[in-house]
Amino acid sequence: MGIYADIILPVPLNITFTYRIPEPLEHRTVPGARVYVPFGKGRRLTGIVVRIHSVKPEGHTVKDILTVLDDEYPSVLPGQLKLMEWLRDYCMCTPGDVMKAALPSGLRPDNGANEHPYKPKTEVFVRPGNKLANTVSTDYGNLVGKTAVRQKEMLDRYVEMSGLTENPLNPSPVTKKALLNACKSSAAMNALVENGILELYELETGRLPEFGGHIQQPPELSPAQQKAFNGIKDCFRTKNVCLLHGVTSSGKTEIYIHLIKEHIAKGGQVLYLLPEIALTTQIMHRLQKVFGGDMCVYHSRCSENIRVEVWNRLTGPNPYKLILGARSAVMLPLQRLSLVIVDEEHEPSYKQEDPAPRYHGRNTAIMLASICGAKTLLGSATPSIESYSNATSGKYGLITLEQRFRNIRLPKIEIVDTADLRRRKYMQGLFSPLLIEQIGNALENGKQAILFHNRRGYSGTVECPDCGWVQKCDCCDVSLTFHKSTDSASCHYCGRRYRVPAICPSCGSKSLRQRGFGTERIEEEVSSLFPKARVARLDLDSSRGGYESIISDFQEGLTDILIGTQMVSKGLDFDNVSVVGIIEADSIMSYPDFRATERAFQLMAQVAGRAGRKESQGTVIIQTRQPDAPVLEMVRRNDYKGFHNTQLQERRAFNYPPFSRLTTVSVKGTIQNAVEKTATALASILADSFGQDRILGPDAPPVSKIQYRHIRRIIIKAGLDLPTWAVREKTNEAVRKTASQNSTAGITISFDPDPQ
Ligand code: ADP
Ligand code: ZN
Ligand code: ZN
Repeated sequence: MGIYADIILPVPLNITFTYRIPEPLEHRTVPGARVYVPFGKGRRLTGIVVRIHSVKPEGHTVKDILTVLDDEYPSVLPGQLKLMEWLRDYCMCTPGDVMKAALPSGLRPDNGANEHPYKPKTEVFVRPGNKLANTVSTDYGNLVGKTAVRQKEMLDRYVEMSGLTENPLNPSPVTKKALLNACKSSAAMNALVENGILELYELETGRLPEFGGHIQQPPELSPAQQKAFNGIKDCFRTKNVCLLHGVTSSGKTEIYIHLIKEHIAKGGQVLYLLPEIALTTQIMHRLQKVFGGDMCVYHSRCSENIRVEVWNRLTGPNPYKLILGARSAVMLPLQRLSLVIVDEEHEPSYKQEDPAPRYHGRNTAIMLASICGAKTLLGSATPSIESYSNATSGKYGLITLEQRFRNIRLPKIEIVDTADLRRRKYMQGLFSPLLIEQIGNALENGKQAILFHNRRGYSGTVECPDCGWVQKCDCCDVSLTFHKSTDSASCHYCGRRYRVPAICPSCGSKSLRQRGFGTERIEEEVSSLFPKARVARLDLDSSRGGYESIISDFQEGLTDILIGTQMVSKGLDFDNVSVVGIIEADSIMSYPDFRATERAFQLMAQVAGRAGRKESQGTVIIQTRQPDAPVLEMVRRNDYKGFHNTQLQERRAFNYPPFSRLTTVSVKGTIQNAVEKTATALASILADSFGQDRILGPDAPPVSKIQYRHIRRIIIKAGLDLPTWAVREKTNEAVRKTASQNSTAGITISFDPDPQ
């Protein structure tokens, strides 16, 4: 007889591992605890206990757990263990993949190279040394010799900064860094310390930004908002999920704030998810005013140390009450979760792409809430087809908010035919006369403008008009984007940069030309059209230095025109924008995907929603070569229902979500032939198992080679009656069968549920 623990380890195997629990560790080895175990030859790993039992594993010697890493509180809660198990099925990955995604690496030391061992952050402070502490204030000056000018200066500064004269027994803390900043002489500091006048000491400091301001009451809700607020609460009496469909700037965020307050007042915790970190600062400030130190922020760009600190605080006795986070926050230990808010629930960036687990943050949040007995509120001005269908079918509650706050009208949307204008030579570069006029008006009236385009860089591709040659990446099957700022062409898939040749390498022609355009070029043209305007650009290239300052400068009116990619469409709240221009709607409408229309509608409606939020109705100019495209008319009329109905019909006809559940299977490898052979074999086995009409492909995706690896894709359209685990079983079985019948050396097969 012994006692054993099944443990998840961060290794790429589809199993848990069983270890013996030595007697002294018995009471601390509980499900959810982190343990340190030997693994393989000389390796040691951190794992998570999932189950305790007394069944001795057969066939091999069982090793002992070395230590238990958690003292008082297990790091992983029972609900999280359940969620992790669900994620493993849903994402068709290993338990170790899920563990690595869930637990900050600072919480899983190993004896290999653990890059981020957790160290509490400390800071060095200065306090009075013996001599200074025993001197009456008027005599401070005599402690230092007359010739030691620097020391005297530093001492004076210290006395001033610490308020020592006013409060000799309890001076304010002064950091060493601040004092050195004030008088730059480390020699003086050393001398003062040596002579017992000052003393240095170290203190552990919390890394989470402290909130210094005053807590405020949130603004009162308008009658329409109050009605929606009550409606949501009613909904939650009978449903677990509720969709708040509220037009842009209707005050959804204010409604969330009131709901959060209620849940916290009742002792619950609230998880507030946002699609992108670029948004968090704006919303964080809004929330901090109301919730102050009760909240924390968590996303994948937080440092490891912060992640560990947040985690520890959440498993401890005094957890944060409000957690604002990106999708990865669904993995946090939430002891008293009572509400999850998924803002901008339609956003594709809720989807984790690589590495596994490739989960959808919204869907995972709903599962998390259901495990914890909490409610989920989805919010959007342009809900996903799936969520809106769930709401109209009665599976979710539906609350609609059709008015903007203060009844400001939704922006007026004008559609401009650029093909016609170009023919008649009215276009000035990328700009139509109407857009130029509107931007000019805005600037004259002290208003701001946002210009949207979904491609960064200067131009699309460099190509040869004589022979058709296109400059492509050597390692990826994709044409390059020219960036004027670096005078090079770059691959947006692998990041490699290339020189742009002066003559065509294929036919020697000297008339190479650039086709298509990106945000850099818009910036250049708008600056020459409006030389006095202060112009800023928000995209992946410009924001490397920090998108926060770009956003806050615009918010404070330090810039007049903001040019940007998708990043400007996501829920930002600017007061003073009267014009929004969509430079080329055609590039938005040409997604090679069944979601093309959905994405186009959402993107345009969201970008348009940045206009005229606070004072008066705004204007949106959509430039396009296809002014008759039906989706444009729906955007113009803000006809969400019409859009939803047409989409639903299409989806039904082709058995796409919400009428099926998609999983993309990707086959990748460096040898194209082998990849194609494996993909074909796998597709046919999958078709036998799921039915021919439920399998699409194998196909080459639009970018069919990335980093020398060829990619073929198979799409499974599983029936809704088939549970997640069954899809996983069938698919795994098909993969095993494929591998037994073909050589799959050097080939990787990965799964992507709910591809976006
Ligand atoms: P949404 O999230 O629906 O786009 P927001 O919550 O950002 O809308 O609201 C838009 C703007 O209107 C914000 O600046 C917000 O502060 C303001 N606002 C909304 N509701 C109220 C209210 N009840 N009282 C005061 N200001 C409000
Ligand atoms: Zn050529
Ligand atoms: Zn590349």
